[in-house]
Amino acid sequence: MIIVLKPEATEAQLKHLIAKVKSVGLKPMISKGVERTIIGVIGEEDILRSTPLDVFPGVEKVMSILAPYKLVSREFKHENSVINIGKVKVGGKKIVTMAGPCSIESREMLINIAKSVKKSGASVLRGGAFKPRTSPYSFQGLGEEGLKYLKEAGQKTGLPVITEIMDIRDLPLIEKYADILQIGARNMQNFNLLKAVGTSKMPVLLKRGISSTIVELLMSAEYILSNGNFNVMLCERGIRTFEDQTRFTLDLSAVPVLKKLTHLPVIIDPSHAVGKWGYVPAMARAAVASGCDGLIIEVHPKPEEALSDGAQSLIPDNFEKMMKELKGVAKAVGRDI
Ligand code: PEP
Ligand code: MN
Repeated sequence: MIIVLKPEATEAQLKHLIAKVKSVGLKPMISKGVERTIIGVIGEEDILRSTPLDVFPGVEKVMSILAPYKLVSREFKHENSVINIGKVKVGGKKIVTMAGPCSIESREMLINIAKSVKKSGASVLRGGAFKPRTSPYSFQGLGEEGLKYLKEAGQKTGLPVITEIMDIRDLPLIEKYADILQIGARNMQNFNLLKAVGTSKMPVLLKRGISSTIVELLMSAEYILSNGNFNVMLCERGIRTFEDQTRFTLDLSAVPVLKKLTHLPVIIDPSHAVGKWGYVPAMARAAVASGCDGLIIEVHPKPEEALSDGAQSLIPDNFEKMMKELKGVAKAVGRDI
């Protein structure tokens, strides 16, 4: 349920309402917009129905949100959410590009790739230190050593850094080194992990599960917002279909659908979706045309020697070329990149 306050509602009226909501065991989540304040009220349906909140002074209307997701819905917040990561803003006019290797492999390689992707126009550096690998015999990531290189590469270039969190217990460690937490596709429904990052102050990139629907993705995001962290970006990274020419099938229709259903920014990961570097630029162009707010792209100096996801990684020259091509597409849809 959402309570929409009158534009002239006072702080005292807001406090009064919040106290009432709390006193009946419901949880208020406040969203202060430019024009008016909205209170999202979450809790048991029965209590919600029997609490007459519309008679309170300062209240314009009370509406129930029919969708199972509440705080992430457009009904709760009409304007697009803009996530601030240092100087980088995700969800505004500029399409934000996050780029870097799948895994952090060495200090030198990471620093070089960070400088190179920055030069080509990336504004966030990606790199995995804890890797979710299908095989237990594959490279699992450098752990804390990798996080140290990531922080250093970020500091040397001024790029904020994103890395995947796989285990709740790693949260304090990753908070020390990174700027954005990534929840991978395989952990989209790891509800304890979602609750944990919901208590963090760090922005979260939540990837869509391999076989998850858009509503399931939104419900997972709801876990994070309902625990207090509103800085969530959603990421479409390909879903499993019968098609086997690509690693997954990039569901680009998720962009307009998500833009309709939620106020959260939408990021596209063409690298994991197609699985082959040659298809990445075309899908990145299509993603920009579809209205996404950002891209996350794997880049590696020697893909043939990469410890993970070499086949889908662009070499720096091709990344640079792609970024140039994207400018025209962004312009055509009224965006910058
Ligand atoms: C990754 O970003 O390297 C990754 C493992 O992504 P996903 O969770 O989408 O497979
Ligand atoms: Mn990868």
